[in-house]
Amino acid sequence: MKHLRLFAAFAVLCLLAGTAFAVAKLMPAVVDDDKCTGCEACIERCPFGAISLSEDKVAVVDEEKCTGCGKCVRACPNEALSVE
Ligand code: SF4
Ligand code: SF4
Repeated sequence: MKHLRLFAAFAVLCLLAGTAFAVAKLMPAVVDDDKCTGCEACIERCPFGAISLSEDKVAVVDEEKCTGCGKCVRACPNEALSVE
């Protein structure tokens, strides 16, 4: 019985974590091209390697890699990034 409760609690935790991850994946970071100066601060800050610079030196977010964690938003000195 004790093991059953532990298993049920673990299953609920996995479900919640999976839901949170799915929601985050739906909200990748968005770049405001007009504000981005190409300073690369966000590239250095992103733990998932989800940002690169375009040929025009503007940040580009790889939506497949982005988890929506928001670290790049806080790193940008120009408020050019947002997680919607
Ligand atoms: S929200 Fe997180 S994962 Fe997405 S680009 Fe920014 S730092 Fe990277
Ligand atoms: S930190 Fe901001 S200004 Fe710098 S490259 Fe990233 S989005 Fe552009």
